[in-house]
Amino acid sequence: MKKVIIRKTEEIEHWRRNINSEINFIPTMGNLHDGHIKLISTAKNDNSNVNLVSIFINPLQFDNKLDLENYPKTIDNDIKISFSNGADAIFIPSNEDIYPPNNKNIKFLKAPKELSSALCGLNRIGHFDGVCTVVYRLLNLIKPKNLYLGEKDWQQLLILKNLVLRMKLNVAIKSIPTQRDFDGIPLSSRNIHLSKNERKLIKFFSSELLEAKKIFQQDKKINLNQIIKKLSAKKISIEYLEHLHPHTLQKARLEDNISLLAGAIRCGETRLIDHVFLMKRRPIIAIDGPAGSGKSTVTKLIANKLKLLYLDTGAMYRALSWLMIKESINYKKEKNLQNILKGISIVFKSNTNSHQDVYVNNYCVTEEIRSQKISSIVSKISSIKEVREFLVEEQRKIGESGGLVAEGRDIGTTVFPHAELKIFLTASIDERAKRRKSDKNSQDSQEIDLHTLKELIKTRDFEDSNREISPLIKANDAIEITTDGYTINEVVDKIIDLYNDKIPKETEIK
Ligand code: C5P
Repeated sequence: MKKVIIRKTEEIEHWRRNINSEINFIPTMGNLHDGHIKLISTAKNDNSNVNLVSIFINPLQFDNKLDLENYPKTIDNDIKISFSNGADAIFIPSNEDIYPPNNKNIKFLKAPKELSSALCGLNRIGHFDGVCTVVYRLLNLIKPKNLYLGEKDWQQLLILKNLVLRMKLNVAIKSIPTQRDFDGIPLSSRNIHLSKNERKLIKFFSSELLEAKKIFQQDKKINLNQIIKKLSAKKISIEYLEHLHPHTLQKARLEDNISLLAGAIRCGETRLIDHVFLMKRRPIIAIDGPAGSGKSTVTKLIANKLKLLYLDTGAMYRALSWLMIKESINYKKEKNLQNILKGISIVFKSNTNSHQDVYVNNYCVTEEIRSQKISSIVSKISSIKEVREFLVEEQRKIGESGGLVAEGRDIGTTVFPHAELKIFLTASIDERAKRRKSDKNSQDSQEIDLHTLKELIKTRDFEDSNREISPLIKANDAIEITTDGYTINEVVDKIIDLYNDKIPKETEIK
């Protein structure tokens, strides 16, 4: 494809009609550095869409005239960098193109107060309104499928995600982690203004944040005053240093697994921001739903794609049911059940096909637990208080340090109520019975006709949803996905998008 430079807004429409492809859009203000290059190359590697980079210094987002005048302009180099790293087109509009003096169609937007009044919004009045206005204008002109933004400007990223939702724009936001220079400071176009000494101070600030992140991993606590003291001792002028919830930007709460430590400092004329995410454990995805809703297939694929541990809690209830039958344990009458359970070990091990096998007391039961005999008894056994207490504790042990996707009936409500993402996966009874019938791993498929299968699933649904302890219900904060009519990959992609929306990419970096 011929690489093009577009300078007029009218040309965009024409170009769009000719490319015959979806667009990845990477908005910039120029003076491109490795952070921008990472955005462009990520877009290029993500899909086969056409990549458009825009270079426009948006006057509306500057609250300081001098800052606008001094903003570095390196257009020739920016063009070279963009094209050589994967841009197919570059849009370089003028002020008049973006804000034509008499065009009444331009919407001057306000950023939402709850997000824009914190952090940088405190001292940069109107800044985020300007950001929203220009991005909205560019999105309407370019109509991209994907918008690529850096997590370095985390508050801006949140505000733009909010803009996309609020204005019902049909664009997916993809983010990349903050890119840092050799000395650890975040890459920024403004860094070229820094003197040697200013750079040293910023390096100190960034390394303090990274140190706080390390300490938090061990102590699960943060001492803001101590950091402020250390920075003040170096005569670093702090504009703010805050510990916040990463999505609402309200004060971080004790129960928040992921929180944001964000700061802004001033060095001479230059103002710099940096942040880290503090994490108590790696993220958890909880997937609940009735029998046959596609949980297992979807959960396994998600675990694989996101490199998370896969936890099939249903297999644990089934394994226990298998043992109860084998050992003829009268689970209804047994008084000593709690003690018997203590002596049972249920573990998962990867087999040579990279699938998981389930072992109960060192005996592999992977296949046997899928029999109709187990399916018909498991709901009764899983409604026993001692059984639930025992297995929930085992499941929590497995998930202690996070980094897993667990499927079951009570994951989001009971096992991991603080999971970062909760999905309630469901499908119509007809669809679920059909899926069970064609499931090669389920012995149901060979033994039972569709009608009987439907009745059996209904019974299990009823038992699971009506038991006294942690019945199958949707957690208040779970997102319900009805999978009728969707392919497995569509459901997996939807959940991965939701995950990426909640979990900053930066948390994947050690
Ligand atoms: O998901 P699967 O069909 O293998 O689950 C078998 C049974 O185990 C369910 O019908 C339910 O009775 C029980 N179960 C549960 N809580 C979970 C997972 C499964 O009660 N978290």
